[in-house]
Amino acid sequence: MKELDNRLSVFGFGLLQDLVALLDILEREKISLEDVRSYVKERIANTQARIDLQKRAYEKKVAWWNKVAKRCPKCDTPMSLIAITTPKGKANKKGYKSLWSCPKTDCTYEKYMKTDRNVILKRLWRG
Ligand SMILES: [Zn+2]
Repeated sequence: MKELDNRLSVFGFGLLQDLVALLDILEREKISLEDVRSYVKERIANTQARIDLQKRAYEKKVAWWNKVAKRCPKCDTPMSLIAITTPKGKANKKGYKSLWSCPKTDCTYEKYMKTDRNVILKRLWRG
């Protein structure tokens, strides 16, 4: 008892109670510790694979955007295309629907457009 007390005290009693409860369930359900180990490894691998997939998709999207986006006439950086949702009226007198904006913080170039952002995106997508 004293020996176990020394060796297990690092885990904390609550964790040990959880472990016993979990082992009881695994035994009852006839699930081995190896099954659990494989399951956890597979879940981690799947999560990493999903993260990698999202990362690749994002990089592909950025690469596409850098290829097709209108370039800033001041600094040649691919610009951001922002949708303007304010309807034509007091706050949007000319009825602009989108804005090409240079993303560089030290560049202030902007070009307002009367074309909807989605229409521009579709044109860029078709090439
Ligand atoms: Zn610029």
